[in-house]
Amino acid sequence: MINFAILNIIWFEFGFEYVSAKEINVVTSFSVLADMVQQIGKSHVKVNSLIGPCEDPHVYEPKPSDLNILKHANLIFVNGLGLEGWINRLFISSETNGKIIIVSDGIHTITNNIAKNKTVIDPHAWNNVTNAIVYATNIERALIEADQDDADEIRLNSKFYIEQLRALDSWAKKEIDSIPMPSRKVITNHNSLSYLGDAYDITFLTFQGISSESEPTATQVASLIKQIRDEKVKAIFIENQSDSRLMTQIIKESNIKLSGELYPEALSKQDGVAPTYIKAFIHNIKLLKAGMLGE
Ligand SMILES: [Zn+2]
Repeated sequence: MINFAILNIIWFEFGFEYVSAKEINVVTSFSVLADMVQQIGKSHVKVNSLIGPCEDPHVYEPKPSDLNILKHANLIFVNGLGLEGWINRLFISSETNGKIIIVSDGIHTITNNIAKNKTVIDPHAWNNVTNAIVYATNIERALIEADQDDADEIRLNSKFYIEQLRALDSWAKKEIDSIPMPSRKVITNHNSLSYLGDAYDITFLTFQGISSESEPTATQVASLIKQIRDEKVKAIFIENQSDSRLMTQIIKESNIKLSGELYPEALSKQDGVAPTYIKAFIHNIKLLKAGMLGE
């Protein structure tokens, strides 16, 4: 009888353990958020990203399978600030009951002038590590609310991740500090790195403005080429997620040297150079530094 009682306790314990190992079905809008949620949720999340590696979040065209993915989601993480202009229609069509979390809630936003008397909020807030820490905190809170049994572990993962982000920020500051101020000018496809520029005192000039949806006019291109020459800008980059054909052509025709490829808003695949937010950030800082120094 005693043995039977012990067996019962073991069974109860094992069963309890099994029930508490909960897996939250998470959907994220794009790859940067997918990585952040994975770092904090670890084994307690199953993450599906609507936009995959190396895909442009501004011009995404939803697939029919996205409806099914959203329908089964417990939590849906989006950037907000106008990045995913296509997503509201998708939520309605999917009839999802998943909770929507805007990870940028609570950050200090940057506003960009897009025309005379017309400004818009820049959505690329994750490119300032201080904001990425706010993202992580919002993710942690939402995951704990959805899975209170695993709160301690999620809190610990988040603490460890935020410590890594703080170290990343200090490292990046030191790297950029060594570059003379007049050299801190960079050209990219579109305005994806203003938040990084704001954090580390770098001026970003772009061909396409705030969203990769817009096409630059001939006058805009001509004036940027003139600026590159007049101000002797050495750091000129394409972006992994953007269609860079036009920019590559302009650079070639203008006899300007390309400094490399940045990962500002889409991670690489796992075997690429930027499979996580932190690795993408390190890649970008190293490349930006070398570009600005003309190496
Ligand atoms: Zn963008």
